[in-house]
Amino acid sequence: MNFGTFLKDVKGQIRETDVATVKQAVDKRGGKAGDGNGTGPILIDVREKDEWTEGYIPGARWIPRGFLEQRIEDQVPERSSDLILYCAGGTRSALAARSLSELGYTNVRSMAGGFTAWKRAGNTYDKPFIMTPDQNVRYARHTMLPEIGEEGQIKLLKAKVLCLGAGALGSSAGIYLGAAGVGTLGFIDDDVVDLSNLQRQILHATDRVGTPKVESARKTINGLNPDVKVIGHMARLSSENVLDIIKDYDVIVDGADNFPSRYLLNDAALKLGKPVIHASIYRFEGQVTAFVPGKGPCYRCLYPSPPPPDMAPSCQEAGVLGVLPGIVGVLQATEAVKLIVGVGKSLAGRLLMYDALNTKFREMKLHKDPACPTCGEGVKPESIELIDYQEFCNVRI
Ligand SMILES: [Zn+2]
Repeated sequence: MNFGTFLKDVKGQIRETDVATVKQAVDKRGGKAGDGNGTGPILIDVREKDEWTEGYIPGARWIPRGFLEQRIEDQVPERSSDLILYCAGGTRSALAARSLSELGYTNVRSMAGGFTAWKRAGNTYDKPFIMTPDQNVRYARHTMLPEIGEEGQIKLLKAKVLCLGAGALGSSAGIYLGAAGVGTLGFIDDDVVDLSNLQRQILHATDRVGTPKVESARKTINGLNPDVKVIGHMARLSSENVLDIIKDYDVIVDGADNFPSRYLLNDAALKLGKPVIHASIYRFEGQVTAFVPGKGPCYRCLYPSPPPPDMAPSCQEAGVLGVLPGIVGVLQATEAVKLIVGVGKSLAGRLLMYDALNTKFREMKLHKDPACPTCGEGVKPESIELIDYQEFCNVRI
């Protein structure tokens, strides 16, 4: 039997589909492939690495033909899943489809014409994120951790984190997030660098006194890691700008030093479903927790509304041990990295308290309040109203 006859034979035994059908399925899921069980087919690209890196159908998974039989059970354990395989022209995927049906997969199709036909029809395609040789070296200590790997590092490189404040907490969190290769790092701060900041705000430098903190942050982080795109928002949060500023970020690191910003951030983040890594410091003590929508309480579960102005801390600036925000901010950065990579157990529902004078960590359980005005029962995120509280004197850090 020659190959032509053999292929004809194979194609007679498998099911084929066409580009238009696949396009419809991809569009229906907004550029993502389905789960193979009700939400649409799983798309599997069976081409070689160099072909995959040139572009692939949005939402497709990549399992090269040579590894397909070995890896399919891990990737798609359910034998009845709706699978569509494609290659460059439809031959390799036809052979692969027959092989999978021999493995017991009952709902496999091969896309006729392959990726070539997909492109010829004028359809868009995605390109995989490939780390550069420099990035492979820079992040080697991350990628050699099986919990992170290249996949986790790419998640970091694609991630967008906003630091509320480029002060003490924003400095230590920001520096480590930058070093870790978080691709986009935003800072919102309307202040300029002051000499009295430098005892703890390690993003800044003596020769930058008087320059905007967001500018100084950009300089430091880009000096450390040119992979990071630093965005400076020289503004103060208000109900007018908060949604616009936070909407493009994946995680928010809250290093705010005032109540109005904390409440605004909490409410806006719940509205948009964004996780907030919250921390505060005072003298020798710091605390940190994660407010992850749907997983544990929010800031208002703990403090439903700001204290009345006459109960607020005095207008005097409080002292703080310089290294304290270093530790607390690094804890915030750690939580942000874990959330982005999707590893470990987050601080959602737990408050971690650090007492620097006695070198003690304590942990407290935090509970969601069913009557919480912003995340309680029956509260719809879209109906949350943003409130600009009057700024009153507070402890500036
Ligand atoms: Zn709440």
